[in-house]
Amino acid sequence: MTTHKLLLLPGDGIGVEISREVERVIAILNGKGGPNSFEVERDLVGGAAIDAHGVAITEEAMAKAKTADAILFGAVGGSKWDDVPYEIRPEAGLLRLRKDFDLFANLRPAICYPALADASSLKRSLVEGLDILILRELTGGTYFGEPKEIVALENGQKRGVDTTIYTTSEIERIVKVACDLARKRSGKVHMAAKWNVMKTGVLWRDVTVATHRNHAPDIELELILADNCAMQLIRDPKQFDLIVTDNLFGDILSDEAAMMTGSLGMLPSASLGAADPQTGRSKALYEPVHGSAPDISGQGLANPIAMIASFAMALRYSCNMAAEADVIETAIAKVLDNGLRTADIMQNGLTKVGTEEMGRAIAAEIETALA
Ligand code: NAD
Repeated sequence: MTTHKLLLLPGDGIGVEISREVERVIAILNGKGGPNSFEVERDLVGGAAIDAHGVAITEEAMAKAKTADAILFGAVGGSKWDDVPYEIRPEAGLLRLRKDFDLFANLRPAICYPALADASSLKRSLVEGLDILILRELTGGTYFGEPKEIVALENGQKRGVDTTIYTTSEIERIVKVACDLARKRSGKVHMAAKWNVMKTGVLWRDVTVATHRNHAPDIELELILADNCAMQLIRDPKQFDLIVTDNLFGDILSDEAAMMTGSLGMLPSASLGAADPQTGRSKALYEPVHGSAPDISGQGLANPIAMIASFAMALRYSCNMAAEADVIETAIAKVLDNGLRTADIMQNGLTKVGTEEMGRAIAAEIETALA
């Protein structure tokens, strides 16, 4: 019997509403018995934590996160906290979790459920059945390199500087993650970089080739220039299975891939840290890609699928429960096939439902599948 410790941080706005639906799914899995169960702790993060404690995440919540097998994160932010000082803004809670646990590997799946293929801006034939994983390096590169500044020049102009820095070990560890993940998928990795014009691109290419040769010769590796990758994603997305890339290109390519699948409310993500040398387990945070959606919060309109699908990722990558992850993903597909839609993915002639109704329908499908 394995008990998985989960820390649920609902956060603000619709984060609270979609977290209730994930708790419904967890309760069903717990009710089924079997060799795995979940112990769920809860805490505040973001604006809710600022209101209660004056900080976006407390030391107590960080301590709970440290002992959790997986952190489930809703969303943070809202206009109520627009004027709090920059250091304690709601997002500081998420950034602290990412930084303290060195969550360097960001997994962004782009899955196009057949029932939503017509909601994509690409032709159905290009996206139906699409299942891509973009693996983005999350803690290095252009967003963090120093110097990062705007300097006033003597001639009255200004000069903006961002610095892109990567070291061998930063590239090596994310390429290893890519190869490990590919082994559980199609066995193929694309690495996207700009080795034709960037020194960091040359290092990405050389370290990727060496890491692949030394650690994962069984995996098929293809190198692709990042601009060509952006183009090929639109031309023929199904040629890709897993794309590993740096922080900046990953930011752009993952949003591009995401839009093929319909709505923000459908997109889960995972951020993984380094494997613990003793237990082999990685610290991990799972969250929907979207934010707290203040425009619809408190109205029961939010789509809970991204949050529920993030929990499915937690089962797959932190709990060794791939079969149960499949059950959840199949339940989501079935509910969509049955014509249920939240407002963000609504189509003519289908049945419009709210957050709770969508959550209950998915939970019922899971219950049936596990019966
Ligand atoms: P957002 O993702 O919250 O919303 C963008 C649009 O998508 C809105 O129209 C919203 O209604 C819709 N949407 C988002 N999720 C949805 C869902 N599950 N179901 C149905 N519709 C959904 O982005 P935003 O409006 O730019 O930001 C709102 C707040 O969220 C800001 O305070 C921002 O800083 C914060 N934010 C937080 C995170 C995070 O917690 N990781 C990420 C992005 C933005």
